[in-house]
Formats: sequence, structure tokens, C-alpha cells
Amino acid sequence: MRTRFAPSPTGKLHLGHAYAAFVAHDLARKHSGQFLLRHEDIDTTRVREEFYGGIESDLHWLDLSWDEPPLRQSDRLDAYASALEKLRNLGTVYPCFCTRREILAGTQSILSAPHGPDGPLYPGTCRTLTADERDAKIAAGVPHCWRLDAAAASEFAPHLKFTDLRLGEHPVNPQRLGDVVLARKDIGTAYHLAVVVDDAFQKITHVTRGEDLFESTHVHRLLQALLGFPEPVYLHHPLILDENGVRLAKRNESMAVEHFRENGTSPESLFSQFPDPISG
Ligand code: GLU
Repeated sequence: MRTRFAPSPTGKLHLGHAYAAFVAHDLARKHSGQFLLRHEDIDTTRVREEFYGGIESDLHWLDLSWDEPPLRQSDRLDAYASALEKLRNLGTVYPCFCTRREILAGTQSILSAPHGPDGPLYPGTCRTLTADERDAKIAAGVPHCWRLDAAAASEFAPHLKFTDLRLGEHPVNPQRLGDVVLARKDIGTAYHLAVVVDDAFQKITHVTRGEDLFESTHVHRLLQALLGFPEPVYLHHPLILDENGVRLAKRNESMAVEHFRENGTSPESLFSQFPDPISG
């Protein structure tokens, strides 16, 4: 068994991250497996150097140790580019030239704009461009991202499912998040692509993470099938909420692991408050 904790070094760890790291570490240790650390640092506009060390120091304090040198996604851009190339060759991605404003206008003008769990989905404007139109725009240097063609992709990989240790077996709905961005205009990759490529690269057998990422797993299973990667088991654990029942954000300073370190709280007393990730 191999599990991982994959924080983004864009802020300090809070109690929710500590729980996510604890769940992954605990599962691996109980099965004599390996626990790995991955810095998801592709968004260079938000990453800050001091947070890498801060995260590792908080994990040491929590006594959560990793078994291989931490992976940095910023070192892996070539791997994401070749995965994107493979998807391009399959005809399962397309370039999208829309600006944010155009997408907003598009979703507002279509009465029956498709909706996902987080609001309107991309209406598919650029999916209908011809190959010549795409080539001309790219040749003219029009900035573009690359989107999953969810309909085309589902033809290549029909009848997928994923299994979650807490939430059971789920058929994959390729359209759940619509034609998501797999490579951003500015950084050439995006979360959904990078996480799938790296979970396979790090041979992660059990992907544990918060239930806020549950819907993303529909996209991730689809990408794994397209790219020929193995199917991991999932565990989407409950989220740690603040006193108002709202999920923690990096700005919740009072929930920062650093804050507990400084006020003399022990890691054990933090762990004792954590719900069981499977039954809790
Ligand atoms: N980097 C993501 C986060 O900080 C976690 C991604 C994952 O576990 O799949 O929320």
C-alpha cells in the first residue's frame, strides 16, 4: 500500500491538512505501506518558498514521516506535457481561447447551461471550432488553455467506476465537471492532470483526501483510463469544520498547526479529536 499527502505550499497547514496527512499516514502504517509527500506547487503565482519548509516542519512536529524524498510538481512539467500530448493524440482535449468574461457571458446567455456541483459548467464554445480554426488561432498566438472533451473521452473509456472505502462504489459520470481545464493558459498544466500523472508516477495505491474533492474523482478515473494508468482505491474523508460548521481555509490562523505548536497543544490531543475517516 502507498498513500500520499499532497498539500499546496500556498499557505500554512491548518487542522484540516493535519487530519488529511494523518489519515494517509495512518492507513499506510497500519498496512506496513509507504507514505509519501508531494508539494502541489504548479500555481507559481500563489506558491511561496517559506511554505515548503513550514509544511515539512509541521509534519515533523505531528510525527508524520514520509518514506521518499518529497516530490515537487514544479519539477514535473515535462511529464504533464507528455500526458497532454497523449490526450491530444487521442482527440480527447481541445484548445479553448475563451476569456473568463466570454465564458461568463456564454453561461448566462444559455438558459439551460449545464451545471455541475460548483455552478455552471463551461458551455463548450470552443469544442465546435474546426481544426483549421484552431490551428489559425494558435498560429496567431491567441492565448489558450486545453480542455477535456468529456464526450469524446467517455467513448474511449466507457463504463468506468471508482471505489471509495467510506462512500462505496460509484459509476463514473464523465460529464460531472464538464470540459474541465487540463492545462492552464499560464502554466501549461492544471490540478486534474498533474494529480493523475503523479499518483501513477508515485505508484499511489490508495488516494486519501477530503470529500470536497469527491466530484473530481470522476475526471481523475477517466484520465487514468485514457492514459493507461492503474486504478487506485479512494478514501474521501470527512472535512474538519470550524465552530460555525464551515470548512477551514488557510486564513483561519487560529486553526493553523503552528498555532497549536506555539500554545503547547500536543499532537496526540489533536489526533484524539479527529473523526474515524471511514465510519466517522
Ligand atoms: N493539493 C490538493 C489540496 O491541497 C490536494 C489534492 C489531492 O489530494 O488530490 O487540496
